[in-house]
Amino acid sequence: MRHTEKSKAAFDEAKRYMPGGVNSPVRSFANVGGNPLFIARAEGAYIYDIDGNSYIDYVGSWGPMIVGHAHPQVVKALQEAVVRGTSYGAPTLMETELAKLVQSAYPTIECIRMVNSGTEATMSALRLARGYTGRDKIVKFIGCYHGHNDSLLVSAGSGMATFGVPSSPGVTKGTAADTIAVPYNDEDAVRDVMEREGDHIAAVIVEPVAGNMGLVLPRQGYLSLLRELTEQHGTLLIFDEVMCGFRASLGGAQAAYDIRPDLTCLGKIIGGGLPVAAYGGRREIMEQISPSGPVYQAGTLSGNPLAMTAGIETLKLITADPEEGKADYSRELTIKTKNLLLGWQRTAKEAGVPICAHQAGSMFGIFFIDRDVYNYEDAAAADQDAFRIWFETMLDEGVYLAPSQFETVFMSGAHTDKDIERTIAASEKAFAAVKKARK
Ligand SMILES: *Cc1c(COP(=O)(O)O)cnc(C)c1O
Repeated sequence: MRHTEKSKAAFDEAKRYMPGGVNSPVRSFANVGGNPLFIARAEGAYIYDIDGNSYIDYVGSWGPMIVGHAHPQVVKALQEAVVRGTSYGAPTLMETELAKLVQSAYPTIECIRMVNSGTEATMSALRLARGYTGRDKIVKFIGCYHGHNDSLLVSAGSGMATFGVPSSPGVTKGTAADTIAVPYNDEDAVRDVMEREGDHIAAVIVEPVAGNMGLVLPRQGYLSLLRELTEQHGTLLIFDEVMCGFRASLGGAQAAYDIRPDLTCLGKIIGGGLPVAAYGGRREIMEQISPSGPVYQAGTLSGNPLAMTAGIETLKLITADPEEGKADYSRELTIKTKNLLLGWQRTAKEAGVPICAHQAGSMFGIFFIDRDVYNYEDAAAADQDAFRIWFETMLDEGVYLAPSQFETVFMSGAHTDKDIERTIAASEKAFAAVKKARK
């Protein structure tokens, strides 16, 4: 039996000091009815809680830990960096180095600005789009999450879907009125909006592979339709690849689907577990940003030397050139993810539990539903009780998954074939538990 008394006590104490006992809502496990685990340390594919339990981790800090936790090369570089000082508020060589690494995988990013969170990246990209076009309105898709900016906290998926909040109190009517939310993967809906209001819309922002309503893939031709419609109306197309960047493929969804967005937001992986995100794109647009242009955006800790170091080492590990005899990191992750999902599909079938499984490179997820899932409405129709039982059983079996149906899970380079076998073995019990509960 797994003991979690110390985590329970720690959560009770934390609740006395912090709203809901956490610094980010989905961490609270509220949707799966349990207590969150307090983590003591993490290494490779494993995390360890303060009661001494270990788990194979597929949350990976919600995406960033693509090379696994505490990778020796990242740790060494950080140790060397920390003694040189933790922040200077002045330019460093590392910022250019990380910019070059990003650009080599994302040729559409001709010019980049580093920030500290995905929220900041999308907020700034929208301000830039509005400044550049002189228009106020934006289009987003229901169930896509772009961080907690006021203008984007409308039908925003992820934690808001988990907690059943349509749009947050505190977002003014005026702000919400400038945001048009349409269903994801619905060609007619976006065509109608663009025909009606396209000439007043500054930007269409999209998770090109949607990871915050569970994992939902774009329908064939959907992203090229968005590119076409935005071009027709002088609207900027913003790809929020904060999650799917370096995951859907090394070059993100834009490489996987061969679409050139005007602006791209990145985050998560590019900080290697430290707070880094970025936005970038066409030079002519990016040069509107201060100090080269009038659109203001700044940050005391932006381009922080420790954060740049973790990002640089992580990107070096995953972009190593296969032609130089190095492993193709993305490809290997994709194969491992595929094997794991094939295993889950087999054990689900054996248990008689229909699931919809999705994969995009090293991102994956399942829905407890007997049809394909194309949008937020479909995702919300999946069986949440089944998810809860699945999640709890997997946790008891030593597998740490995201504690909500509306999240995606991730493979890392540290997961071994044996870890994957164990995860598939655990799924046998978890699907059986779901089946039993349904009888
Ligand atoms: C995580 C995420 C964000 C927000 O990033 P934070 O660093 O949490 O602010 C924005 N967009 C997408 C697609 C994300 O997955």
